[in-house]
Amino acid sequence: MKYFFLAMGFELTVLGNSSATPVYNRNLSAQVLKVLEHFFLIDCGEGTQTQLRKFNISINKINNVFISHLHGDHYLGLLGLISTMHLFNRDKELHIFAHPDLEKIINIYLQCSNTVLCYPLVFHSLTYDKSEKIYEDKNITVNTIVLDHRIECCGFVFKEKEKPRKINKEITDKYNIPVYELNNLKKGSDYTDKKGNIIRNSELTFAPSKPSSYAYCSDTKYCESIIPLIKNVDMLYHETTFMSEKQDIAVEKFHSTTIDAADIAKKAQVKKLIIGHFSARYKELEPLLNEAKNIFKNTAIAEEGVTYNIS
Ligand SMILES: [Zn+2]
Ligand SMILES: [Zn+2]
Repeated sequence: MKYFFLAMGFELTVLGNSSATPVYNRNLSAQVLKVLEHFFLIDCGEGTQTQLRKFNISINKINNVFISHLHGDHYLGLLGLISTMHLFNRDKELHIFAHPDLEKIINIYLQCSNTVLCYPLVFHSLTYDKSEKIYEDKNITVNTIVLDHRIECCGFVFKEKEKPRKINKEITDKYNIPVYELNNLKKGSDYTDKKGNIIRNSELTFAPSKPSSYAYCSDTKYCESIIPLIKNVDMLYHETTFMSEKQDIAVEKFHSTTIDAADIAKKAQVKKLIIGHFSARYKELEPLLNEAKNIFKNTAIAEEGVTYNIS
């Protein structure tokens, strides 16, 4: 008999990879991370609703929104999204994790349009002096990553929790192990039968798959203090607004180059790097990719509409 176990993993769909303005069919920052049937929206630039529709992601499945900072290219799509949820008669809570000023912006908008939302909007104010755990459910935790940008800005690291061991039903049936013992086996205990024989846990269970992790590093200049927070993640998104020849401008504008991002990925020993938030000065992205790959081989463009399986 064969047993199949579904690895939970994370699935990330990129909705936008342009900085500042939408150009060359590239949209503004937004991504959706899917963990089981939970959808987490990360940043919400203008046009996010259209992108969600284009890539068949139901707006109503989004219950948690994480906004990195209050530059327009990262949140101006949110008011539209909130309104559409209202028009769709949503009744579930929507949780927004963002800078406290965003709550003021949302409230002014709702006041001026004389709108009382038909669903509860729960606002969680972020702080920016140190990394903090801002979200937890039975599957994952989310921590902030304090970044170095012109205004207060943070990234987010999503980590799957350790999973219980998987029961090998064929073997537990063979030893007639009672159902009430299965929970102990999932926790790693051995089993002692009525005659006092010990059956090792490794014989009765399979090891669970390794927990997945994803880090989103939004607008920032090169910032080594983030390395411990993103160490060994399965996938890192890091902004790369500029190529390395524009290093001076990158520093001045609190942004990163391809080399900065690749260097961070290398030092943090992440498994895969995806790069985005490209300046409008670059129509072709190949040169940016090549530059990053020279330092960190497993780099890809954070391509819109592509779903990355992170496991
Ligand atoms: Zn930006
Ligand atoms: Zn910014």
